[in-house]
Amino acid sequence: MTSVLELRQVSKTYRDGADEVHALREVDLSVEAGKMVAVMGPSGSGKSTLLTIAGALETPTAGEVSVAGLAFAGMSREDRSRLRRRAIGYVFQDFNLLPGLTAAENVALPLELDGRSRRKAGAAALDALRQLDLGDRADRFPDQLSGGERQRVAIARAVVGDRRLLLADEPTGALDSTNGEAVMRLLLDSCRRGLAAMVVTHDAQLASWADRVVFIRDGRIVDGTAARPGPDSLLTEQPAR
Ligand code: ADP
Repeated sequence: MTSVLELRQVSKTYRDGADEVHALREVDLSVEAGKMVAVMGPSGSGKSTLLTIAGALETPTAGEVSVAGLAFAGMSREDRSRLRRRAIGYVFQDFNLLPGLTAAENVALPLELDGRSRRKAGAAALDALRQLDLGDRADRFPDQLSGGERQRVAIARAVVGDRRLLLADEPTGALDSTNGEAVMRLLLDSCRRGLAAMVVTHDAQLASWADRVVFIRDGRIVDGTAARPGPDSLLTEQPAR
């Protein structure tokens, strides 16, 4: 099975005056459709660099990256931006929705920016909102939604259309544990519908929901153990009688 995200021997070196900072060193990582990888590591270990390179926002110094079978190297700048808009969704810590747009307009915006007609973008947005149980909130503005609903709109915006890869940088960082779990559950649900997901988190409990937890230290992946069975396993178990 081909992976949605593939990193092969990826290194990233930043120049800091006369010094070189090795933000990533020979990282190999792949994430398949429907699977979630959690990335953990101390501050400065390279987590954000890993996400920005996987999201084609930065180019690696060495190594190869591909998303949905398309290698970034050799792609024109326009092709790379198009791949980024179409195939890759981001969830940010502050969920930054545009206050002047309704939930449906916020979710449709990336598709309209990508050239889809307003009608098609609107239909896809409604579909994504319905998947997150927000069909009846589509015409509300962000300030007419609860915090939890706003989070779900932001996730809908990240998975709308034909997105293949979901990238999230500390999506639960500003939330209490109940809301953090709710967001993780929704990310996992979206992922199970066929997206590959990479989620940076400091929270070991939430990381354990992922299919795999990858630890990064000084730019190197130091361990990639299978996570403990997550909450899904509880749902598939037969209740005790
Ligand atoms: P994390 O997300 O784990 O905190 P980062 O990926 O942000 O780590 O950073 C990894 C290393 O690369 C750090 O030493 C950081 O200072 C350095 N770094 C990140 N971005 C830049 C940049 N644009 N210029 C120079 N150094 C950078």
